[in-house]
Amino acid sequence: MTEEKFDAIVVGAGPAGTSAALTMAKAGLNVVLLERGDSPGAKNVQGAVMYTKMLDEIVPGFWKDPQAPVERPITEQKIWVLSKDSMFQVGFKSEKWLKEPYNCFTVIRATFDRWYAKKAEEAGVQLFTGVTVSEGIKKDGKVVGIKTSEGDEIYADVVVAADGVNSLLGQQLGLLDEWTADEVALGVKEVLSLPREKIEDRFNLEQGEGTTIEIFGENTRGMLGYSFLYTNKESISFGVGAKLSHFQKTGIRPPDLLEYAKAHPMIRRLLKGAKPLEYSAHLIPEGGYNSMPKLFADGILIAGDAAQMVNASHREGSNLAMTAGRLAGETVIEAKKKGDFSAKTLSAYQTKLRDSFVIPDLFDHKDLETMVEKHMDIVAEGPELMAQSLYDYFQVDGRPKRDVQKAILQRLTKNPAVRALIKSELTLKNEFSLVKMGVKLRLLLWKLTHGGSL
Ligand SMILES: Cc1cc2nc3c(=O)[nH]c(=O)nc-3n(C[C@H](O)[C@H](O)[C@H](O)COP(=O)(O)OP(=O)(O)OC[C@H]3O[C@@H](n4cnc5c(N)ncnc54)[C@H](O)[C@@H]3O)c2cc1C
Repeated sequence: MTEEKFDAIVVGAGPAGTSAALTMAKAGLNVVLLERGDSPGAKNVQGAVMYTKMLDEIVPGFWKDPQAPVERPITEQKIWVLSKDSMFQVGFKSEKWLKEPYNCFTVIRATFDRWYAKKAEEAGVQLFTGVTVSEGIKKDGKVVGIKTSEGDEIYADVVVAADGVNSLLGQQLGLLDEWTADEVALGVKEVLSLPREKIEDRFNLEQGEGTTIEIFGENTRGMLGYSFLYTNKESISFGVGAKLSHFQKTGIRPPDLLEYAKAHPMIRRLLKGAKPLEYSAHLIPEGGYNSMPKLFADGILIAGDAAQMVNASHREGSNLAMTAGRLAGETVIEAKKKGDFSAKTLSAYQTKLRDSFVIPDLFDHKDLETMVEKHMDIVAEGPELMAQSLYDYFQVDGRPKRDVQKAILQRLTKNPAVRALIKSELTLKNEFSLVKMGVKLRLLLWKLTHGGSL
């Protein structure tokens, strides 16, 4: 490794780190990017849905690059709720998503991260792989460099910590503590090979199009989490995640949960004949806004999973990481112009994050998990209740419709979990509140049209 002093050291070549490094190199800064994997992405796990807008802001029109490792543009997004033997679904499909600038693509992180880091190298970034950063070096209270586990020391005006959910660097420099089991989820995932035509037939897709399904209910066995199924060119990514504290409480083993989810009748048929190619497991930071660490200090910025930047209810993480990486890079470029890398100057990073979607989205979803956790009986009972109600609604059994509908509403409103949900505090900042408002409006409508109490 080199003895030279850099403008910036970026630790971790994931979406956050590569975005930061690429942004700074494009502005002519001398940047080194350090990655512990043998190649970028070698150890990284994602579903993986990658959002176009945030990458387009860094590599404009990236989808036109014949080497861009995108699998399928997503034209349809569905949400399923499973009971033991039934499925309720909502979804949206649009032809608009088949055209530039698209909305999102599925990717395979190992190939995507390699391609992205190559773009950074082409812009002038010096990438070193197989290098684990073991600690930061401080002088007069300011971060001035890093030490690798091989004992090499590298110096720079600024260090950007983009070392992912475990962020040993962030911990060692006192920016954050090790996350508790309540602040992270554990996701397990398989990539299963399936011929292109089978994927398109099975998921009703035109050639090249992709679909995503987020699956709630029975498949997480009462734990807070969900499964995902995404179509790649010639494979399917299927995974399931739940809060780490819930795995600990229930004693359910993550690989067993994956097999349980795969065996559900609604999922089994979609995966039929698909051959497992790869298995991986990874933590997901889900503490969100309430767990965010200090984002800057003298000579250091922290971005992406390392800083809890995941909006779990929208399966967004890579896009927050890319935007935070870009904004960290832009902050360093401004600091370089001023020749001042103090916490005061670097605090512009936090302002930029506030002016972007990153902090507003994390803020608006900050209490979502806690709210849902207060209603875990809805998580456990809701899918079965919903399935039974819809079964009755669609089943033609000779009863007058008004009797069927009355029975459904009575079953719902007598359920203690639904009652508790309706009574809970209402803030109109996220989906949980919208669901609750939907239930309330439906009840109000019932009262108005039937002119009495329930
Ligand atoms: C199962 C699962 C499914 C997901 N699905 C989606 C999805 O569909 N869409 C989405 O947007 N997000 C998804 N996410 C979240 C997304 O993967 C992350 O938010 C995103 O990868 C964060 O990027 P990052 O660069 O901050 O961290 P990472 O991608 O984790 O990158 C960190 C990098 O730092 C390196 N590193 C760590 N420590 C060191 C060290 N000491 N020295 C040198 N290098 C180091 C790592 O090897 C890694 O390359 C998912 C996550 C999981 C686990």
